Amino acid sequence: MNGSPRTGIGMTSARTRGRMIERLREQKISDAMVLAAMGVVPRHLFIDQALESRAYEDTALPIGFGQTISSPYIVARMTELARNNRILHRVLEIGTGCGYQAAVLAQVAREVVTMERIAALVGQTRKRYRELHIGNVKLKHGDGMQGFMEGAPYDAIVVAAAFATVPEALKAQLADGGRLVMPLGDEQQILLLVIRHGNEFVEEKLESVKFVPLLPGVA
Ligand code: SAH
Repeated sequence: MNGSPRTGIGMTSARTRGRMIERLREQKISDAMVLAAMGVVPRHLFIDQALESRAYEDTALPIGFGQTISSPYIVARMTELARNNRILHRVLEIGTGCGYQAAVLAQVAREVVTMERIAALVGQTRKRYRELHIGNVKLKHGDGMQGFMEGAPYDAIVVAAAFATVPEALKAQLADGGRLVMPLGDEQQILLLVIRHGNEFVEEKLESVKFVPLLPGVA
């Protein structure tokens, strides 16, 4: 991943990423593939240059349009839950934003489809992926509540915005044994894991989280 005009701080950011990985280990992220993925994706290149020095802090940051990039911990946590030590073929992400989570998923999956409702964010992320030579992520402008049927079934679905219920379309697009991870709720949110076994869906409620809302329609 290079070729971007902003890779100049290269070694410094590699060292900073190393410290981020140490912190993720302390926070009990243990999947070696996930830690390796977090170690190679240049998080500072997914946010505005003015915030670049804060890119590796354990915090969400603004990405414009009232949206945020999730904290390193939550990206790692959701990726680990989605992967569950499996080889992932196809993964769907809802809520591309700046494209960071999808780029991390793309390190642990053969192919990622990511959907975003705000056209301007899709455009920015498409340009960023071109510059970073990220080729195994398909970007779709659309309402992720409907999922993306053409790419189904998915081994994992990661939703990066909160909603009161799990959209039925997303459950239907999970492969057998597939795992969906999403924040559930509005003000009070909890991370939900849904695992598909045939036509049964087993739900597990995990820790409290704070995400932007999943909104209907496109912008
Ligand atoms: N995945 C991002 C997080 C982006 S924040 C990361 O790597 O940090 C969540 C994103 O979900 C926002 O960009 C928001 O516009 C988008 N979103 C909200 N509702 C949506 C919907 N129905 N379909 C697709 N994207 C949606």
